[in-house]
Amino acid sequence: MNIAMLAEIAADAGGDRVVLGDPERGVTYAQLYDRARRAARVLRESSADTVAMIGVNSELFPVALFGAALADRPFSPLNYRWADADLAAAVRRLAPVVVLVDDEFLPRFESLAGEPGVQLVARSLFLAAVADAAPIEAGAEEPANPAVLLFTSGTSGSPKVAVLGHDNLSSYILGSVELMAAEEGDAQLSSLPPYHVGGIANLLSTLFSGRRIVQLPAFDARTWIDAVRALRVTHATVVPTMVARIVDLLAEDGGGLPSLRHLSYGGGRMPLPVLERAMALLPETGFVNGYGLTETSSSITVLGPDDHRLALTSDDPAVRARLGSVGRALPTVELSVRDADGEPVAPGVTGELWVRGEQVSGRYVGTESGAAGGWFRTKDAARIDEEGYVFVEGRLDDVIVRGGENISPGEVEDALLEHPDVADAGVVGLPDDDWGERVVAAVVPVEGRTPDPGELQEWVRGKLRSSKTPSSIALVDMLPYNDNGKLVRRLLRASLQGTAGA
Ligand code: ATP
Repeated sequence: MNIAMLAEIAADAGGDRVVLGDPERGVTYAQLYDRARRAARVLRESSADTVAMIGVNSELFPVALFGAALADRPFSPLNYRWADADLAAAVRRLAPVVVLVDDEFLPRFESLAGEPGVQLVARSLFLAAVADAAPIEAGAEEPANPAVLLFTSGTSGSPKVAVLGHDNLSSYILGSVELMAAEEGDAQLSSLPPYHVGGIANLLSTLFSGRRIVQLPAFDARTWIDAVRALRVTHATVVPTMVARIVDLLAEDGGGLPSLRHLSYGGGRMPLPVLERAMALLPETGFVNGYGLTETSSSITVLGPDDHRLALTSDDPAVRARLGSVGRALPTVELSVRDADGEPVAPGVTGELWVRGEQVSGRYVGTESGAAGGWFRTKDAARIDEEGYVFVEGRLDDVIVRGGENISPGEVEDALLEHPDVADAGVVGLPDDDWGERVVAAVVPVEGRTPDPGELQEWVRGKLRSSKTPSSIALVDMLPYNDNGKLVRRLLRASLQGTAGA
């Protein structure tokens, strides 16, 4: 199914409901779909194969996404935080391309304007042309055609361009629809950037659920909290580093978020101490953890609010441990944990997580191959227990193998984060002559504190096995995070190699 049909169905079901902006005077579902049909006319008239966008969250995002879908052109939202040269290279890779650019970003890309195959259009001019164009009749119907092209963030190498088909994305939305049944007055705060799969999936699922969407141009914890309170936001989706910042501010200002019924998080590992603090500060909010990859059209597993609550209060250690899991597979996907030879392992044994299902693409620009109905290898180390709960231990490459024992860096980070003087922690493996690899850590102290590394080592030893205790702990001002809030362990490893000795 073409993803624009999600907008059409939502417009048919409740056309005069507001989808964007002010609850009284904002853009309605019918108006948004009408604008998408006009945008498709404008885009069809251009000679470009692809529609790119360099812009923050705004009305342009859904209009361009659905307009491109109706015009049967892949849509590629680009990361406006990238350096100008990297963005220009990405644009050239997509040519022939029409690039819709927020007016304020336009001066950064003047050098691209004259290049063959690159057409730059300011956001304001595009929206004016859309208003003047005649709407097209509903369009393309080739479900495997590319709907979205996403540059992966490159935490594990140079960026690849993942291809998500209409079939992949609509399968995800339809497969998870029961998770998001909307009630009258529901409002979703959209603060994930358009260039991340979470931003796309969130926009599509919110729209299909019939909720109103409150767009934040970019995330900032203070603005986010103020928006939730002022606009009575009921649902929000964030990445774990955002939760950490929100929790710090909430603890400072002492207020709650009474309207917020659902807080979904994912896209990276959630540190347990942060989750526990968030749940304590927001007792009325249902928490949802979604795990997935760009290549899987967003989440493939979900840990829902009931599991979160049960895990927090249960006396059963196995149930409590679920707070650290990413939940169970969505009904539309199949998971399998395999050893290095590709053989399935027993429940509870760690291996590589493989996934298959219609939402799984695994296709990249420039390579014909993809999952194509078969298995896609996530490159994540994970185990699945007897009840189907999935525990992601991190990227296979990041798991530390010390003397034959597998150590998940996240587990050691959690232990460090529980220390009152530790604001943030990152753990990696470094080569070791005796053990193959040893555990080393970098810690950002809480402001005004200078914890003793030896004492922190004792702290970890008291919580975990001795073998998991970092052999050295460096105190640092900050850790290397990328734009999506993910710790870039490759960079951390390189910097610790200098301080901890290789
Ligand atoms: P690249 O593929 O270039 O390395 P990336 O890591 O940013 O970039 P994404 O597709 O955005 O690529 O990230 C997917 C990865 O993020 C997963 O493989 C997993 O390691 C991690 N991840 C996503 N959601 C969760 C979650 N809820 N819990 C733990 N880890 C998660």
